[in-house]
Amino acid sequence: MPSNSLDGVRVSAAQAYLGRERPNLVVRTGAPVARVLVDGGRAAGVVLLDGTVVEAGEVVLAAGAVGSPHLLLLSGIGPPDDLRAAGVPVVRELPDVGRGWSDHPAVHVPFTAADPPAHPHAPGSQAAVDLDAGADPAGDVEVLLFVRPFVPGGELHLMCALQHPDSRGTLTLTSPDPRAPGSAYGYLRTEHDRRRLRHAVRTAAELLRAGLGTRAAPGGDVLGTDRDLDAWIDAHLTTSVHLSGSAALGPVVDAALRVHGVDGLRVADTSVLPVVPRRGTAATAVAIGEKAADLLTA
Ligand SMILES: Cc1cc2nc3c(=O)[nH]c(=O)nc-3n(C[C@H](O)[C@H](O)[C@H](O)COP(=O)(O)OP(=O)(O)OC[C@H]3O[C@@H](n4cnc5c(N)ncnc54)[C@H](O)[C@@H]3O)c2cc1C
Repeated sequence: MPSNSLDGVRVSAAQAYLGRERPNLVVRTGAPVARVLVDGGRAAGVVLLDGTVVEAGEVVLAAGAVGSPHLLLLSGIGPPDDLRAAGVPVVRELPDVGRGWSDHPAVHVPFTAADPPAHPHAPGSQAAVDLDAGADPAGDVEVLLFVRPFVPGGELHLMCALQHPDSRGTLTLTSPDPRAPGSAYGYLRTEHDRRRLRHAVRTAAELLRAGLGTRAAPGGDVLGTDRDLDAWIDAHLTTSVHLSGSAALGPVVDAALRVHGVDGLRVADTSVLPVVPRRGTAATAVAIGEKAADLLTA
């Protein structure tokens, strides 16, 4: 597994990019944004949750695949009927803001490791093996072996996730209150998605049977029928936190990441990816930031 590290120590994007002295940069922490200020069709700054106005010649939203479309909607940029229903005045009609979300829906198959461990153990690594267990399309199903717990004392598991899901989710505005986005992940809405995730869980069970360890769940009876396995998956389904596509290139932003119809406003995070990439999104998010910086300085 690739990771951001320097001399063996994990490095976050904030540490890598903001950790140095930068005389032309001011970072305000603890300052949540409530909406973008749009004046005469042009972004003029942002309004913070406490009502403070921060004026700007250009605004770049980088609040993530939940935060950025939510801020667009709160600013009146989005599907007009939804905005009106939530009591937000329409500033710019853009029907696809918040629509078409994709992610890697996942389930964890917990296990206790064989003693001595039967799997390779990379020192300092949390996840060491990434198995491509799918064929339709290639690279579509991931079974990820966590050889160390994600948190101290946590369980070991095989994480089974779809990398190229058919299903899409939606972020909506349920109220003009910035603290209350509405979201529907929309996982596993097609039989094709369900079939591949069942395949991933059964592959994980086979790997454990082959000597990796003892499976804690699901039980053999559950694995035996599609209906029971679907019910187990539904009860344990989780996100890979790789949300993408809620302010996508094409319908919401142009190739320079500019929001259609609002001058001086860009989005630079995984919201702009038309569809979730096949594998973790962290490196892609950094690449989007680099690209946005090039566009701004060009
Ligand atoms: C627990 C976890 C583990 C992960 N592990 C991996 C991994 O191993 N490999 C991998 O490739 N990917 C991983 N990811 C996914 C990866 O971290 C994300 O895809 C990536 O960080 C997305 O970057 P982004 O810039 O789009 O948004 P984010 O990194 O989410 O940045 C958005 C920022 O905006 C801030 N924000 C949101 N709303 C507002 C607002 N209204 N006002 C002000 N600020 C706001 C947020 O606090 C946040 O700091 C993981 C994610 C999580 C949560």
